[in-house]
Amino acid sequence: MNGMMQAHGLNIADLIEFAARYHGDTEIVSRRVEGDLHRTNYAEILGRSKRVARALDSMGLAVGDRVGTLAWNGYRHFELYYGVSGSGRVLHTLNPRLHPDQIVWIINHADDHVLCFDMTFAPIVQAVASRCPRIRHWVALCDAGHIPVELQQAVPNLRSYEALLAGQNGDYAWPELEENAASSMCYTSGTTGNPKGVLYSHRSTVLHAYAIALPDAINLSARDAVLPVVPMFHVNAWGIPYAAALVGCKLVFPGPSLDGASLFSLMDAEGVTFAAGVPTIWLGLLNQMQQQARKPAALQRVLIGGSAAPASMIAAFQDGYGVEVRHAWGMTEMSPVGTVCTLKNKHLELPALQRMAVQTTQGRPIFGVELRVVDGDGKDLPCDGRSVGELLVKGPWIVEDYYQSGKPSPLRDGWFPTGDVVTIDPDGYVRIMDRSKDVIKSGGEWISSIDIENIAMAHPAVAMAACVAMPDAKWDERPLLVVVKKPGATVAQEELLAFYEGKVAKWWIPDGVRFVDAIPLGATGKILKNKLREQIQAAMV
Ligand code: AMP
Repeated sequence: MNGMMQAHGLNIADLIEFAARYHGDTEIVSRRVEGDLHRTNYAEILGRSKRVARALDSMGLAVGDRVGTLAWNGYRHFELYYGVSGSGRVLHTLNPRLHPDQIVWIINHADDHVLCFDMTFAPIVQAVASRCPRIRHWVALCDAGHIPVELQQAVPNLRSYEALLAGQNGDYAWPELEENAASSMCYTSGTTGNPKGVLYSHRSTVLHAYAIALPDAINLSARDAVLPVVPMFHVNAWGIPYAAALVGCKLVFPGPSLDGASLFSLMDAEGVTFAAGVPTIWLGLLNQMQQQARKPAALQRVLIGGSAAPASMIAAFQDGYGVEVRHAWGMTEMSPVGTVCTLKNKHLELPALQRMAVQTTQGRPIFGVELRVVDGDGKDLPCDGRSVGELLVKGPWIVEDYYQSGKPSPLRDGWFPTGDVVTIDPDGYVRIMDRSKDVIKSGGEWISSIDIENIAMAHPAVAMAACVAMPDAKWDERPLLVVVKKPGATVAQEELLAFYEGKVAKWWIPDGVRFVDAIPLGATGKILKNKLREQIQAAMV
């Protein structure tokens, strides 16, 4: 017997309709590429998203056609999120930090028909345009006056976004779409092999938005002012542009200005209560907070994810400024949020050190995400907080297959293998030890490079740390610590190694420290361990 409730499909356009109807005057503030601060609201965003939809109709784009973006976090990108997906096309956000050859490969693989770009990325467009023959329209996200003549001459079929929208009627009815229809896509950063396309649906996106807004996830409400530092070109800014419309909160977009001073002043002036980003971004903001000896006035909590949040960073926010840290884990393949670390009542009674030990885990799953930890033969390991194995996940916003990969689905009996090596405790708190390709196995036992890095980050002379496996005749592999010192700081290898005593088992302590000027980072801010290992090995011969 079926239930007798309305079979109303989930649709991204409904989010912006809702926000415009009930929170129409709530502000959307953007630092623009043009340099100024722009203010609009949900009601105006809805109107302009509909013009985007009409513009795509006028270009002859069919339902399901891909529209690429190379853009910062800003209101125009936000309009494209709704106008493109709401009209049945697929929004394909490209990461401008990738090499132009990779961008060309991704544009052609996704078969993008239109490419919308911020003027910052005009040089990329000029470099790739002739190699992307299927793109019918290049759209500069500015008014016609901001497009230089040389660009106009170099890129065929170049249009101004503002001119395109001005020519459209805002009177538009969103099409009825099947909830499993594709809505947007994002390619994995692909440190090895070609990037892989993850194709999200209206259903997966709306369910994910509901889930991340929950109190034990990011706890969003209409009274928040949210600043996503995480880029809208990296897994849909972790779903915040959708969850914000779902609750009707104020949004503050930082555009290209991601340094600590710019973020501080924008957060301070706009009353930002919640912000989300990767650890490297927070180093800049914390630095600024130290200089000003205060936090941005209204800031209550930050979400840290993408890489592990060191205890020193969590303590700096919480103990220094009363800003709550929520540590989260996810992947492009998971829309992306899988786990978020919030404490349970029983943790509140714990001594500070033990409470911090919980907070440095990547947290427990939000409803909808199922987890398992398995050994090398795929057998379940106990969730005892000690057994180390690969993390498998399952749920309605987790990938089933990659877009036109030409390979079998990555799923194993319906579970997606994350490639992360973890422990899970009885309450479901996950501790990420490593990516499987970065693990350090010494004498047959795991050493967590993330734990080693987090401890180094707590040393006052350390700006950045990475721990990599080095081949060893006796133990197979031993950890080596690679460190970038803070400007003007001095510290010797012996002092850093002594810093580990009493904090980890003796055999976890790295065999040596190598001081470098910089550690290579990938397009999404993660340490490129394979490149680092190559650099170290090249320096050793
Ligand atoms: P991406 O798909 O580029 O977002 O990368 C996903 C990967 O980033 C995960 O599989 C993890 O290896 C890593 N990651 C994400 N969040 C965290 C975190 N909080 N701590 C440690 N690693 C993380």
